[in-house]
Amino acid sequence: MLTTFSYSSLNCFRQCPRQFKFRYVDKIKVPRVVTPDTYLGTTMHRVLRKLYRLGADDILMPEDDAVAEYHREWEKLDLTTLQVTSDYYTVDDYIRIGEKMLVRHYDKHRPFNQGTMLGAELYLSFELPNSPFKIRGYIDKLWRRDDDVVEICDYKTGMTVARPQDDAFRWQMGIYELAVRATWPQYETIELAQHFLRPDEIVSCRLSPDQLDLLTEELRDVIVASHQAERLGNFPAQEGGYCRFCDYQDYCPAKRHEKMLAEDTTDETEDDVTESVRLEQLADRYLSVYDQSNAAKAELDALKEELRQIVRNGGPSKLVGSTGAVIVKLGRVEKFITRTRDAVGFAELSAVARKLGLEEFFELNGRALMKSLYQKERLTAEQLEKLKPFVHEDEESRVTAKPFKKTGPDDNK
Ligand code: SF4
Repeated sequence: MLTTFSYSSLNCFRQCPRQFKFRYVDKIKVPRVVTPDTYLGTTMHRVLRKLYRLGADDILMPEDDAVAEYHREWEKLDLTTLQVTSDYYTVDDYIRIGEKMLVRHYDKHRPFNQGTMLGAELYLSFELPNSPFKIRGYIDKLWRRDDDVVEICDYKTGMTVARPQDDAFRWQMGIYELAVRATWPQYETIELAQHFLRPDEIVSCRLSPDQLDLLTEELRDVIVASHQAERLGNFPAQEGGYCRFCDYQDYCPAKRHEKMLAEDTTDETEDDVTESVRLEQLADRYLSVYDQSNAAKAELDALKEELRQIVRNGGPSKLVGSTGAVIVKLGRVEKFITRTRDAVGFAELSAVARKLGLEEFFELNGRALMKSLYQKERLTAEQLEKLKPFVHEDEESRVTAKPFKKTGPDDNK
């Protein structure tokens, strides 16, 4: 079982468990897909690291040297191996965009010796509190500002500016803060900043102790889920925009059939149906039945709602038709919030359950905690009080169809 994680590996598991398996569990060696935008990020980071490390010693690298260094980084790579993913941008466009970013950053931040540099491209690792798991990461720049705030700075070269409440921001930067706090507990005020070089915008925030606790719980949840996936061999492929950058497309079961179809050169008029075409026909048959069943389900749901509404309005709870009866049961239940309903609230509930010593019960499942302890009032007053905010009332309903038994000609005798 993996015990050491990083923001990348945890994010990978959340995005696509199958990619996580290929990369971190099976450790399949594949040539990396390098795109011009990812390589632009690499070049910029290398030049900035040099500028800030020299700046910390009051040495200013001349602007022309910095630009030359930037171009040298591009020259290290055979540019024809880059996988261009845009119809409109060429590799030269990316090089030009990067140079513009670099020059603007240089002019604005020279001589790169502001505050006190505490580390550039800094490797840190820490143990997740109350767990045997380690998380590690690289921090682009850690420095103490003149107002005595320690800033964790991360450079981005993409176009889209994040928001502090975005999960990606909170997770990546929060992990860095946990690492810094574990390494240097004496740093009191820490600010998180992502510097978006392309639009030249800085997004920053401070996380409260509660937000850090919540993040710790969320991290722990994902790690436990990855262990469960490993135990059960359960790593579903989850496609998304990120597939374009995935190094494992040739291994991916979600991409296999498309590949088979693309490679299938059989003439459509040929008698023998190839495997790829057989699968295509199976998919078409499934989609057709799926459409029909969806239409039937929508009609069934609408009928159920009509029946429930009759009961809510005080009407009969059993309707008798010519071929059978329909029974409607309506009630109210108390439930704990669930992960799918409110992921953040669920992580908070998980933390409270742990603090109350109900961890085992809760992890078994929230329903067991509700049914066996909460509803049977087998909790202490303190436990009840702390768990109450996570309980909500819901309607519970059941609509049952009871067709009449078919009577044969002999049954009436
Ligand atoms: S190609 Fe997409 S779905 Fe397949 S493993 Fe990679 S990220 Fe996951």
